[in-house]
Amino acid sequence: MSKKDYYEILGVSRDASNDEIKRAYRELVKKWHPDLHTEDKAKAEEKFKEIREAYEVLSDPQKRAQYDRFGYVGQSTDQGGWTAQEANPFGQNPFGGFEDLFDMFFGQGTSTSSRASTKSRAVKGEDIYVTIWIETKDVLYGTEKEIEYTRYKVCEACHGTGAKNGTAFKTCPKCHGTGVIRRQQRTFFGVMTTQSTCDMCGGTGRVISEKCPVCGGRTRVTEKKRIKLKIPSGVEDGGRMRVPKGGHAGENGGPYGDLFVIVRIKEIDGMKRDGQNVYSEVTIDFAQAALGTTLEIKGLEGSEKLVIPAGTQPGTIFKLKGKGFPTVRGHLRGDHIVKVNVEIPRSLTKAQEEILREYAEASHSPVNEKHRRFFRR
Ligand SMILES: [Zn+2]
Ligand SMILES: [Zn+2]
Repeated sequence: MSKKDYYEILGVSRDASNDEIKRAYRELVKKWHPDLHTEDKAKAEEKFKEIREAYEVLSDPQKRAQYDRFGYVGQSTDQGGWTAQEANPFGQNPFGGFEDLFDMFFGQGTSTSSRASTKSRAVKGEDIYVTIWIETKDVLYGTEKEIEYTRYKVCEACHGTGAKNGTAFKTCPKCHGTGVIRRQQRTFFGVMTTQSTCDMCGGTGRVISEKCPVCGGRTRVTEKKRIKLKIPSGVEDGGRMRVPKGGHAGENGGPYGDLFVIVRIKEIDGMKRDGQNVYSEVTIDFAQAALGTTLEIKGLEGSEKLVIPAGTQPGTIFKLKGKGFPTVRGHLRGDHIVKVNVEIPRSLTKAQEEILREYAEASHSPVNEKHRRFFRR
């Protein structure tokens, strides 16, 4: 995959602040707007796209943390493509709104968790998405991976309340501690009383009198989280694993979101996976096809022996039983299917040509009779 250096694209240092990133982005967008580059629009568009992509990642603390840690943010499109059905949305439109893709994918995205306008309503924490790459052998036997990412955790100093020591509250002045606002209205039918949740305290009846100095009243702080994840054998490329409560802490004591780990599998050159089976091709020359031979071919676990019997025809399919991928958590493995191509030499040495002429002489088919006459002339 292309390792784009987003910092370099925006021309900022690795520890640039959000403001610096924003400023650099604005400058570059002005400079590279395709409408200003009529003479070389394609190049400007490419550049513009790159800048937007870089900004999209670096302006988002969560994505930036992922990028810093892994060198990319789960949207790779240029390495072999996605094979798993459910992962396809990433491939179609990698940067036209990353969050939107997650929305499509998971039903509810990281950006859609509602920002409560009320001061202290508990909100569920956002989900986090991390992509990891594993090797083919990890798929065969399963593996354990350590994943490090940045997330919000509940502020311990205030127990997620946002108030100093978790105790600096006072009675809500708007609802006087009742949590509800009552309104009386004179109507045609008499006096009607309506009741609604107090918007100042969110119905809790109390408001913070002094903010927690650790989290500044935000009820959560960032932490570097490290977890070990068991990846079962047989996992599909693009498959995702859910770690309940592995995501961000909710605001105001809301529950944790989940962590989704998207598992990508490094491909082996020349081998294609389809479910449990793996496919490859091998090319032999016509003498090997006619006489038979034993080949050493690339398998999932190093080299495999493939016996080519005498008289093998071009396009023949051989099956190496049990040399494919296992089912998820299973031990039964699929097959390695090898297609044999036969190559006709495009040029011959003098010696080879003579031997082949002799071979043609020795054959008695009508076609060869014709050849014989042709060569005699
Ligand atoms: Zn209130
Ligand atoms: Zn706090």
